[in-house]
Amino acid sequence: MSIIRLDQVAKYYKSEETVSVGMKKISLSFDLGEFVAVTGESGSGKSTLLNVISGLDGYEDGELYLFDEETSHYTIADWERYRGAYIGFVFQNYNIIDSYSVYQNVMLALEIQGYPKKDRKKRAFELIEKVGLTSHRHHKASKLSGGQKQRAVIARALAKDCPVIVADEPTGNLDSQSATQIMKLLHEISEGKLVIVVTHDYDQVKSYATRKIKMHDGEVVEDKVLHKIEHPIEAKPVELKKTSIWTLFRFAIRNLFSTPKKTLFLLIMQILVISVFTLIYTDQMKNIRERGLEQSQIFPNVPETRVLIEKRDGSEFSISEIESFRNLNHVNEIYEHSSLFYNELDLTIQGLNGYGYGYIQGTDSAISLSESEITGRIPVAIDEVVISSYWQSFNIGDTIELYNGYYYEEANQVSFGQFKVVGIDNQDRHIIYFSDAYLKQDIEIEEQLDISRYENTRSSISYQMTFDYESASVYIERAYESMDVDIMFVGNGEQTLLEDQTIEINTYSSTGIKLEKVLTGLTVIVYAEDENSYYKRVMMDQVLYDQLVEDFLLEVEFEYMLPERNMLSLSVTGYYQGNQIIEEVDSNIYKVYYPANISSPSREVLVFLSGLLAIVLLSLFGLFLYAIVHAVTRNVMNARKKDFAIYRSIGANQTSLAKLVVIEQVMMAVIGFGLTLVILNVLSSSIPMIGRTLPYMEIQDYIILILAFVLFGLWLGLRFNKKVFKQTVIETLSASKGE
Ligand code: ADP
Ligand code: MG
Repeated sequence: MSIIRLDQVAKYYKSEETVSVGMKKISLSFDLGEFVAVTGESGSGKSTLLNVISGLDGYEDGELYLFDEETSHYTIADWERYRGAYIGFVFQNYNIIDSYSVYQNVMLALEIQGYPKKDRKKRAFELIEKVGLTSHRHHKASKLSGGQKQRAVIARALAKDCPVIVADEPTGNLDSQSATQIMKLLHEISEGKLVIVVTHDYDQVKSYATRKIKMHDGEVVEDKVLHKIEHPIEAKPVELKKTSIWTLFRFAIRNLFSTPKKTLFLLIMQILVISVFTLIYTDQMKNIRERGLEQSQIFPNVPETRVLIEKRDGSEFSISEIESFRNLNHVNEIYEHSSLFYNELDLTIQGLNGYGYGYIQGTDSAISLSESEITGRIPVAIDEVVISSYWQSFNIGDTIELYNGYYYEEANQVSFGQFKVVGIDNQDRHIIYFSDAYLKQDIEIEEQLDISRYENTRSSISYQMTFDYESASVYIERAYESMDVDIMFVGNGEQTLLEDQTIEINTYSSTGIKLEKVLTGLTVIVYAEDENSYYKRVMMDQVLYDQLVEDFLLEVEFEYMLPERNMLSLSVTGYYQGNQIIEEVDSNIYKVYYPANISSPSREVLVFLSGLLAIVLLSLFGLFLYAIVHAVTRNVMNARKKDFAIYRSIGANQTSLAKLVVIEQVMMAVIGFGLTLVILNVLSSSIPMIGRTLPYMEIQDYIILILAFVLFGLWLGLRFNKKVFKQTVIETLSASKGE
């Protein structure tokens, strides 16, 4: 039985316009033990013959029998199996993986074949020694001379111990001395194998060849047996094992390390893209999560950087308790006189030169600021503050005064002192930042604060006293001079005096509590309205007015007469840390108030919608970024097509290679993401934008991100597979010949 038999096999190369003949109806058969020299001028069809025999290329006509089996029905997988089990290749242009060492090139063949692990190394060294490359075994293939490369390829072809070795002009690019050595080497290893060598220089193999085939114009013109093979040997195919996923992992890692520059380049690009995407993602998440928040009604002005704690029994904190809070991970500082933040009050800022005023939305400690967030500097002295760029009328160096109330020049305003502006917060937070020195001092301002609270409530009551008149709510003003009647409707016309009237007065306290009172037996004078006046003015007698306010004040006395609460104010970095504090501290002993944390159903709808929008935007943006990665990676991968063809020529099948490509891409994505996280965490201490958004990330966010990147890696891998395997091995190899 011949192991390879061609029966009228013809091969044509079809291009769009032309069809050229590779070989014409050739019939030949080969046995083990033969050393066949194929000669003929260039273009005579030698390579075509070899490629068809070795299953690297298909044929059009006739039948190729391999081990007496027809091959016209062979699938890609069948050919892969055949090549893997029977054929070792040596090509003219030394198809060697340049980025691997000699040893790695030889090992690759053993690994793909699934050669027993414990013997692999020994066998690789033996083969390398056989081809005389022992001293070069750890050199990169790209550093070898042509002859050395070819010897390494022969060692690799031998590694499989397969019955057939085909060599297509293996000495074509070598000097005559190296050429002689290579031919000798091929002869030495030909024992018991079928070796088919294509050569343009028959003299080189004359002494070894057992048979000579000469080709001309796609036909065999001479087939001469020089030495008869007496006892043809039975072919013993190599046993092929499936390449395990772990082997592929090893390959992937080796590939990444064997081209460090390329890997680094791809990695840097991945990291850039991944960090941009991650930052945008985290920023979106931050926005979504913040949008779910609404300020507390009770502490309307406490920013997200502050958490308030009190004991459920209202008692004072001991020093050791305070210390234990200070030692909490997320706590930056503790202020014992929490009320010094005045957040239960509305605060107004006023420029002392008589210009500029504004409403303050919150107060905070300057330790929550970083230098880079402000122009100027962080306040240090007791009377120094940082204010927001929102109040543009103030500059660094100005002196400002703080008052209670919504507006400057409200009645009965209480001053909280004068401060020097030393810095402007570059972000538009309407917050005023005090120095630690100010916040930590044992201020006796409590009394003043009580007055202020009292005044605040008083002004809010008097500000909005109304009663219903002709189904409209009418504001009542305190008369500026004494009147003979209790209430006066101001107009220009005729006057009517009404006795014994009853009206119901309404108002609200500063915390929004509704107050009502019915007044009876009033004397009211109504001046007919002026046609031109479009609003009604109603005056109330001063004494009556003041009495009313005092009565109402009594009703909400607790608002300003509350005993000072033993409350601690914890300074934290952001919303994430604030919530951590709740988890760590809130218990049946301590109650944690986190004003930033209050949400409502209407907010939740908003959060859901903005989440949806964010997902769409993120997806689009992600696709855009990955188009970039894709373009770059594609170029890098194209350069590796030859390597993959070599893998296939050694016996790696398409499925394994497809997996390898995917594993490599996924690995890059995972490593890239890991490094990105490390980098972002390192940067977060110096770049406040990152430092503030990163903590918003929750476990599920990381899972979502890593999944997204892994999926993209997968997708990239699959795309390249499609490209890489569109071509046959021989097409790829001849395409890369020029490189
Ligand atoms: P040799 O190896 O003896 O130089 P080849 O087998 O490479 O000859 O080529 C035989 C014939 O087939 C030549 O005419 C060559 O032009 C043609 N041929 C070989 N490969 C291709 C190809 N990929 N596409 C088109 N024609 C080809
Ligand atoms: Mg050729």
